[in-house]
Amino acid sequence: MPSDRLETPTTGNTITWDSHGRPIVPDTPIIPFIEGDGTGPDIWRAARPVIDAAVRKTYGGKKAILWLELLAGAKAQDALGCECLLPEETLEALTRYGIAIKGPLTTPVGGGFRSLNVTLRQRLDLYACIRPVRYVPGIPAPVRHPEKVDLVIFRENTEDVYAGVEWEAESPAAREILEQINARLSFEGKPLLPIDSAVGIKPMSRRNTQRLVARAIQYAADHHYDSVTLVHKGNIMKYTEGAFRDWGYQTAREMFGDLTLTEEELFADFGGKAPAGRIVIKDRIADAMFQQLLLRPEEYGVLATPNLNGDYLSDAAAAQVGGLGMAPGANVGDRCAVFEATHGSAPKYAGLDKVNPGSLILSGVEMLRFMGWDEAADLILKGLRDTIGDGIVTYDLARQMENAKEVSCSAFGAAIQSRMG
Ligand code: NAD
Repeated sequence: MPSDRLETPTTGNTITWDSHGRPIVPDTPIIPFIEGDGTGPDIWRAARPVIDAAVRKTYGGKKAILWLELLAGAKAQDALGCECLLPEETLEALTRYGIAIKGPLTTPVGGGFRSLNVTLRQRLDLYACIRPVRYVPGIPAPVRHPEKVDLVIFRENTEDVYAGVEWEAESPAAREILEQINARLSFEGKPLLPIDSAVGIKPMSRRNTQRLVARAIQYAADHHYDSVTLVHKGNIMKYTEGAFRDWGYQTAREMFGDLTLTEEELFADFGGKAPAGRIVIKDRIADAMFQQLLLRPEEYGVLATPNLNGDYLSDAAAAQVGGLGMAPGANVGDRCAVFEATHGSAPKYAGLDKVNPGSLILSGVEMLRFMGWDEAADLILKGLRDTIGDGIVTYDLARQMENAKEVSCSAFGAAIQSRMG
């Protein structure tokens, strides 16, 4: 149960799930939130009233979210007076209530504790990181046609080099592993790997690839995207990333045979024009994909990627439409979904009421859509578009715009609310 230091809603219901991993949402769901570290509390204070107002205005009291605060990061340490950054009770409550929203959590580079975000994704088996990348008119963007970008990136979230299996250089474990590898592999008669190397493992499995790709194809079908592109580096990492591509095509063939076709079939059987409702499965080498996103973004809809490729691609794609301050995200499994801004905790701005809450507000929009509360999601989007249309933005966007009215984080949220009708 949540800590007794926090307020627990006395009414409300728990979300349940159908056998296809879709949530069954009552009218008064209990939804946990984690404020996060650094600027997390600033953006949550701006985002929560916007989400509440949209639900209230849309459903006139028939539906409402009952928020439940959960502790993680520095706030958990302060409240519980221990080293515990991700309390077991937080994980239990996320599992129990199913849908949640969170701010960013700080992780040190190099030594120190393991990323809380990675731990959260692995413990709750949130295997798909879903990042929509769409342009909001009026946002300053570094490319000439940001409106051509309409992507949803499905990044595998549990394995690849993020599995957290690595050993420090010159440690006994690293030496032992390297000795075993060198006993099997050599180059011109010499050991292949320097014995004082650090070692990391890159596991990629059929099961985890297939469930990610299946979810990406299902999303494309539900949201009328006409392609799913498998992004891999299989020319170099043949047995890991190459297998990701092969398992991806196999998933499309075996689970969605009537709905999908390959690019080869598209040109051989349909003259390059897909029949209505069919999804074209493509694959691209990761480095070429970065070029394609800049040069021909309109040719891509849903992307399915291994963990590391997806991490890089989603930040680059977000920059193309105006930056991380406006990039939403979700970590989704078959029984749990945690929505969160794509950016980190930006600690140097913490407590200044300065940063852009747009990414968390848009994560709220994605959460409402996931719950089937599309009307409330649309209302927030209207408020956001009108606010930006009126030139009202936070510092990160104001410095790139002419005649913008720069406002604080909370004032940006209030401006959205006041434009929701
Ligand atoms: P960051 O995203 O926190 O900040 C980088 C820069 O981006 C900031 O200095 C700021 O200029 C800009 N920025 C970020 N959010 C913004 C916003 N809402 N509005 C306007 N500008 C914004 O990246 P970082 O400095 O590399 O990471 C800081 C910490 O966050 C690290 O500990 C990292 O591990 C953690 N992190 C957490 C998550 C997560 O919780 N999902 C994701 C990424 C990074």
